[in-house]
Amino acid sequence: MAMVVQRHTSPGARLLRGNLHTHTSISDGRRSPEEALAFYAENGYDFVALTDHWRASSFDGERDGLLVIPGLELDGRDPALGAYHLVGLGLSDTPRREDVRSLGDAVGFVAKRGGKAILCHPYWCGMPSWAVVRSFGVIAVEIFNTTCEVTIAKGFSTVHWDDTLAAGRRIWGVAVDDAHWSRPDYGAAWVMVEAEERSVEAILQALCEGRFYSSSGPEIKDFAVEGRVARAVTTPAKRLAFVCDRHMGYCAYDETGRGITEACYTVPEEASYVRLEVDDYSGRRAWSNPIWLSDGGQTRR
Ligand SMILES: [Zn+2]
Ligand SMILES: [Zn+2]
Repeated sequence: MAMVVQRHTSPGARLLRGNLHTHTSISDGRRSPEEALAFYAENGYDFVALTDHWRASSFDGERDGLLVIPGLELDGRDPALGAYHLVGLGLSDTPRREDVRSLGDAVGFVAKRGGKAILCHPYWCGMPSWAVVRSFGVIAVEIFNTTCEVTIAKGFSTVHWDDTLAAGRRIWGVAVDDAHWSRPDYGAAWVMVEAEERSVEAILQALCEGRFYSSSGPEIKDFAVEGRVARAVTTPAKRLAFVCDRHMGYCAYDETGRGITEACYTVPEEASYVRLEVDDYSGRRAWSNPIWLSDGGQTRR
């Protein structure tokens, strides 16, 4: 019987590069929407989501070769979960503040308009892992946020993500800029998406299905699991880390000084998922989405 090979993006596929969290002078960003879009267009991006605080973007469609995903960022204090921020993608309506209190209200507002919700920067919010585990209705959590890193060194929420995955919640991880333009918080973290076509709908669909990886530099050329063997092929890296539940996992290190570009790991029977982290020699990182090992091939491509 042929072994099922699971992967999120196909080797050699053309991936679309995008930033999913951007502020402009419509809220507290230092650049106008036009200037923000020009920056991303000039820096090789395929799409950008405009996500000002409590002001849905009126931009939509294509501008200067860049697809614009309309969206917004909501925030509040959930009575059970505490402070939260939430990005809604693919919608052009703004709710009234008094109509959005809980995280469920925010998620519901986005979902009712056909949008997709992403839980923002839990580390920066002071949101503990248990609250992320109980953040229902979001397709992904921000595992790296540039502005949170450059302003208060709280950009990484990968522990929250692993705790959530280990609890059995199947949630994707995204790296974003959350650009505000007063610090160097732009052009530093993005997603690489395998969409069926170059359209907002196809990108949002691919995000929902986890057909992407995140990066602040390195490329993941392939990350696949066959049986229980995980195999990674990447641009030259200092370290390739296979991350699993609890104490399980493995790190392969470069011993040549030129970077390693391949590694394998046999995932233990007790592990429920494996994901890849790629560290290059300039301190930049890429993150695959998790592949589950006991899902009957649901993540199969
Ligand atoms: Zn925020
Ligand atoms: Zn933001």
